[in-house]
This record gives sequence, structure tokens and C-alpha cells, in this order.
Amino acid sequence: MHQRYQDAMALVHKFGKPDIFLTMTCNPSWSEIVAELLPGQQPHDRPDLLTRVFHARLEELKKDVLERNVLGKVVAYVYVIEFQKRGLPHVHMLLILDQSDKLATPDDYDKIVRAEIPDQQQEPELHKRILKHMIHNPCGVQNPRSPCMKQGSCKKGFPKSFSNCTKQGNDSYPIYRRRQDAPPVPLQICSSIKCVKYLYKYIHKGSDRVSMEVHKGDEIAQFVDARWICAPEAMWKFYKFPMTRMNPSASSLAKHAPS
Ligand SMILES: [Zn+2]
Repeated sequence: MHQRYQDAMALVHKFGKPDIFLTMTCNPSWSEIVAELLPGQQPHDRPDLLTRVFHARLEELKKDVLERNVLGKVVAYVYVIEFQKRGLPHVHMLLILDQSDKLATPDDYDKIVRAEIPDQQQEPELHKRILKHMIHNPCGVQNPRSPCMKQGSCKKGFPKSFSNCTKQGNDSYPIYRRRQDAPPVPLQICSSIKCVKYLYKYIHKGSDRVSMEVHKGDEIAQFVDARWICAPEAMWKFYKFPMTRMNPSASSLAKHAPS
């Protein structure tokens, strides 16, 4: 993982910082999954199906982003596949755009990122999907026991404050336009990132690990430090789908100091 992180940082040396941090999560209600379930089956009963549909969607996303240039011309990228504890796959992708398509100003951010709920009349489908998939669960005083709450406040910073226009924030993320007369949305999308190292480390943080105690009768407990792999991740590996990709590729050369 450390080597992959170093290789990915070589891209930053050559092409500059990433412009877009893109995440796609597997949705077990995708029609291609639901259509193939046998009577009585739930999506988690079919890790093979979850895995193959997610892989097909990922390939289509890559065509959109890397070939059809829907977000601008991509000159370098790295992506990593991860699996949540319950098994759903997701991909984190870092994209470095061509100089002519770089996102340099808040106006550029507004072209590809919105942090307001789309109008129900003008964009009904988008409105429905945003409400269903992109809303941060209630937290704060409404739900102090939400998993995102730490020492009395939301560790993801929700609810976000209103802003009449998009601005470059002090930390790694822009402050997106959230106008007070628009519906307030506790929604976060990342586009411009300053803390490149953090992001590259984040996507290369490695597999989940578990510590297990194995008891044998009353004998002294044995401890096992093991890697946690869920069923869809095992299927992903059976199908030999890649866990990570970067382009252009980089590889380190072993250097030996003269003895
Ligand atoms: Zn929260």
C-alpha cells in the first residue's frame, strides 16, 4: 500500500494536484441487481451479482470520465476499489485534468458541483434521486446519537452554513453555494482538494483488519491478526477484477548505494 501511495504521488509530481475526487457507491437497489434476484433473495445473498453489476457500472463510469471527458480531459488518474464492512463495493477516483480544463475558480466549481436540492418542477428525476441518495442523515440536536456525532458536533461538519456563492475555503474543500432561499441541503461533494497527501493516503489505506481471540477449551487464548474480507470482495478477487489502477503507470526503480 505504501508503495502504491508513493507511485500515485509520482503522478502529482508530474501532472500537479488532483482536481476531482469522485466516489461511486454500489446501490443494492440498482435495477440490474433487483431484476436478477430469485424469489426470496436479498441483494446481500448474491455477492456475485453485486460484484459483477458494480464492475459493469464502473467500466461505464470510466468510459464517461476517461473517454467521453464528461468532466473535462483527464490526463492522469488513480482509483481504488473498497468494500464496506457489510460488503457493498465503492470506488474512490482521483482525477487530474488537462491544463485547459483545470477547475481554477468558484465559477468552474459551480459548473460541475451543486450543493442545493434541484428544483422539483424543473428537474424532477434529479430532485428525487438527490433526496433519496445524497442527504446526510439527521444529526446534531435532532439526532445526537448519529454515528457522525463526536463530542457534541458532526465530524463531517453538517449542517453546512449558507453561502450566496461558491468560495475557496480555508481548508481543503470549497464552500459551495447554498443560498438561503434554496432548500437547505446537508450535502457534501468534493471537487478541489489541497491536501493531496491525505487523499492519496486515504485511498491507499489498505484493507480492514480484525483482531480475533481463538479459545481452545480453557487453554491460553491465541490472538490472530487477520485481514477482513467480505463476500463481495472475495468475489471481486475470484473474477480477477483489479483493486486499483493508475494511468499513466508509475513504478519505482530499486537503487543500491555502492558498498
Ligand atoms: Zn452529521
